Amino acid sequence: MKKSASFVLLFAFIISFSVQLSAQTMPPGADARIWQQALKIHRKAIVVDGHNDIPSPLVDDDFDLATNSVGKFHLDGDPFHTDLQRFKASGITGEFFSIYVSGATLKSGGAMRRAMDLIDATNREVEKHPNQLMSCTTAAQIRQAKKQNKVCVLMGIEGGYAIENSLYALRNFYRLGIRYMTLTHNVSHDWADAHRGEVKNNGLSEFGKEVVREMNRLGMLVDISHVSDKVMNDVLDVSTAPIIASHSGARGVANHTRNIPDDVLKRVAKNGGVMMVVFYPSFLDDRSSREENERAARLKPQLDALREQYKNDLQGFNEAERKLLAANPIYIPSYTRIVDHIDHIKNVAGIDYVGLGSDFDGVPSLPQGMNGAEDLALVTYEMLRRGYTEQEIRKVLGENFMRAFAKAEQVARSKSSKISGEGSLKKIK
Ligand SMILES: [Zn+2]
Repeated sequence: MKKSASFVLLFAFIISFSVQLSAQTMPPGADARIWQQALKIHRKAIVVDGHNDIPSPLVDDDFDLATNSVGKFHLDGDPFHTDLQRFKASGITGEFFSIYVSGATLKSGGAMRRAMDLIDATNREVEKHPNQLMSCTTAAQIRQAKKQNKVCVLMGIEGGYAIENSLYALRNFYRLGIRYMTLTHNVSHDWADAHRGEVKNNGLSEFGKEVVREMNRLGMLVDISHVSDKVMNDVLDVSTAPIIASHSGARGVANHTRNIPDDVLKRVAKNGGVMMVVFYPSFLDDRSSREENERAARLKPQLDALREQYKNDLQGFNEAERKLLAANPIYIPSYTRIVDHIDHIKNVAGIDYVGLGSDFDGVPSLPQGMNGAEDLALVTYEMLRRGYTEQEIRKVLGENFMRAFAKAEQVARSKSSKISGEGSLKKIK
């Protein structure tokens, strides 16, 4: 859909104005002194976000490929959480662009191809915006990006089946810059079980354990978001490097299978890993989760009809779906709910093992008060308001991740002389 140039410019002006305003405006009822102090801490800090799904629309949405970009999204009056201006306002130093491969590829094939497309789309963003973005693959480069006032673009694969049961492919993904891999998405596959309960391997299969060992050897972080509880524990049994949950909540606050239970929180603390708290209302809050499930069941006939109507027009479907969901609102908690999860992890595991993993542009809604990446400082404000020290806040914002990432690099260096000769899962049971 093309709009006239003047309309686009007007819209760009309105959006850019509102983004800047939003990034500088206190939340309603906030204490002005604490807000100013929070902004100061936030701007100085290394801020790492564990999960952003913006690469998928970069590939899927039917925009002109020459202009489709995080630098241009706002011009289309888009519903996204991320663009270059929002990145700037967010204070994010390191952003993990998600190389998300749908579980549907287990039936259709094409998992590795999909990952390749998304890696290219991500790299092209950096190539198009060299003054604002830079590609990073190490903890040291994240600190360099901060000095250069750029956003570090990192990559993580979501859905371990993207390696198509090949350690050869895993090693090549590492060479292409992938620095974490979420072992599953929502469905169980040949070597790891997902959180929804389908047991195929009773956790990690022998090959799955081999994948974890090879990730340790390479220096690719193992991500336990989306996996079953048994896989979480199997990973912790096998991994000699710190692990992450790139975008999950605490099950002690919201009882969802996507969240991390207390016993695992304690084990991740011993492992030296970091649990990066997701911003998705349905993982943050039981009431949101319940109402979302009820709504999905209620609207299923209408959504099926829209899918049929827009079967050759993904953008049209997305727009129609958004309208339908907006007309049927559910309970959405305040952004302060994110800090309830941070509090819980701090209490159960310790302040050194908690971080942020927004899931921007992978979720249909964010908590109340948060419109997109530009509002990230709200989390800093709420931590400060609750009495977190500056040092504690800096740990949550990024330093905990930096420690875990640097340690994983160190573990990899210590193992690098051990050549791993093995390759593929030859026989799939
Ligand atoms: Zn996810």
